[in-house]
Amino acid sequence: MESINNETETLAEEIRQVLAEQPHVESLLNAFGPLLLEKSRWLAEVRNYKKTFPVDAIQYEGGISLMQQCQLFLPEDLWKSAGLAVAQGLSQGFSHLAEDIKGLSEQIAEGRFDCFSLIHSTVESDDEQLTSLAEGLGVEPALLQVFLRFLARFMLTKRAQDMAAELAPLAWKKGYCPVCGSFPQLAIIRDKGHRWLQCSDCSHEWQFPRLTCPYCDHEDPENTNYVFVEGKKEDTAFICSKCRRYLVTANRSETLRQTHPDVIAISLAHLDLILQGKGFMPMSECEWNTFKAGPG
Ligand SMILES: [Zn+2]
Ligand SMILES: [Zn+2]
Repeated sequence: MESINNETETLAEEIRQVLAEQPHVESLLNAFGPLLLEKSRWLAEVRNYKKTFPVDAIQYEGGISLMQQCQLFLPEDLWKSAGLAVAQGLSQGFSHLAEDIKGLSEQIAEGRFDCFSLIHSTVESDDEQLTSLAEGLGVEPALLQVFLRFLARFMLTKRAQDMAAELAPLAWKKGYCPVCGSFPQLAIIRDKGHRWLQCSDCSHEWQFPRLTCPYCDHEDPENTNYVFVEGKKEDTAFICSKCRRYLVTANRSETLRQTHPDVIAISLAHLDLILQGKGFMPMSECEWNTFKAGPG
């Protein structure tokens, strides 16, 4: 990996630490850890390519996300480097597919695979289109789907980082993400007991009342609940009896240690299993909480 930076180093160390402490998430972290590292490396590489967008404060404070206000994906964005970084992460996490992914990388590098036009198409949600496109590229449809999801995440995370300072002074009261509109995959309880929701797609975080359900806005201290796993008081889940959704939650109010949110979310996969077993659904479905087979 070229241009290793401090953040990527720290993230690599966190992944090693979780692997040592929680061997039950080894397969998930081995699969998705390389993608997290590639994302971190790519974000550092493109740090100087900054783009901001005008935000209508009134619309925003009324719950209209940035994604609904403007076109966040532009043809001049760094699609090629993002696509190559996603392919690199996938080939390390899914080494049995390395040959297919190598072919994909070559097509991206040669400009035969246009990441921007694909991200704009309906291909990801249209099975037939996905299958025929994947065939043409020489990869499995499931691999192409995961590739496109991570490509969108890389780009959205870049947007969220570039826009963080503009959004900070504005008020956001919704349970979905102010940048991209997705629901959170994780909540972190920080200083003063405040709850910070973590977006599953763009990694943006925003504060939200602790007893309100981010998914359906239901607010009833008697019905809403936090469930614990025996012996680990830092790892909990918020469950909503009304919409039957849950949100894995890490209590970090007593520590200064800042672990990468995606690493925390993956390390809580045992809670996902327990809660889905009880009939609850995650607020946002990710590769690490749906327990579907990986790409191929
Ligand atoms: Zn988001
Ligand atoms: Zn709810």
